[in-house]
Amino acid sequence: MDNCIFCKIAAKQIPSTMVYEDDEFVAFKDINPAAPVHILLIPRRHIATLSDCTSEDAALLGKMLALAPKIAQEQGCAVTFDANGQPQGGYKTLINSGPDGGQEVYHLHMHIIGGPHPWRRG
Ligand code: 5GP
Ligand code: ZN
Repeated sequence: MDNCIFCKIAAKQIPSTMVYEDDEFVAFKDINPAAPVHILLIPRRHIATLSDCTSEDAALLGKMLALAPKIAQEQGCAVTFDANGQPQGGYKTLINSGPDGGQEVYHLHMHIIGGPHPWRRG
């Protein structure tokens, strides 16, 4: 897709700090992080918004969600349990959809937001 900033990031036509890539997905640091860890995970294929997805995209969406804990772990914010069984660490996974959903960039992306509090926003 011409003129899509995230397509250009995936194609390395514009720079980003990439933290993960495979044949189908790319993940990179958000330019305006809301928290100590703020990663954007995108499919390489241009899909404007979650609302364009159908059941045909279920496998892609499932893979995308399943990648979140792997990337979170690599970024140091996995959910773990201490010796008393208390949960530690963690992150949010967030997909904004449409103007009322706060979507600003129209290439499907999942935010992975985590790290020690306080967070700037989110
Ligand atoms: P949305 O509001 O669409 O869910 O999130 C878009 C996110 O993309 C925002 O958090 C914003 O900071 C980030 N962003 C926008 N432009 C760029 C860019 O050129 N590079 C990177 N790394 N992040 C961007
Ligand atoms: Zn795109």
